[in-house]
Amino acid sequence: MAMPDYKNYDDNNIFAMILRGDIPNKTVYEDDHALAFHDINPQAPVHVLVIPKGKYISMADFTANASADEIAGFWRAVGKTTEALGLVEPGYRLLANHGPHSHQEVPHLHVHILAGKFVGPMLMRDWEGKIDMPNMD
Ligand code: AMP
Repeated sequence: MAMPDYKNYDDNNIFAMILRGDIPNKTVYEDDHALAFHDINPQAPVHVLVIPKGKYISMADFTANASADEIAGFWRAVGKTTEALGLVEPGYRLLANHGPHSHQEVPHLHVHILAGKFVGPMLMRDWEGKIDMPNMD
């Protein structure tokens, strides 16, 4: 699969379209800073994505270029979303991909919330490269 452009924001990425209301989403939480919605291809019983409303490609872009207000508002919204989902007691995992080594597919920053059962070890145990990885050219 071709990897996205991680340097120039693409106004037609799928999450930009969701923010514009061009395509539907199953909203969990929304405020001035962020939108949270169910992942279309869940990897756990609860799999929700939280995205900032600003045009940021990934965590690298966001932490370098977003204002303090945007950063605080975004992370507050992540917390509000976990509360809205009732996850604070049982627990949850947060995950954010940046760049080719992470296999980030959608070039608009998103934090995954994974929960609803014991979500297992933190990473696929293959840092030595015994499993074929996707072609990242
Ligand atoms: P990542 O690999 O970190 O870029 O994750 C992208 C995520 O976006 C994947 O988990 C996809 O299932 C999810 N996704 C892609 N399109 C949609 C969509 N239209 N609505 C909700 N989730 C989506």
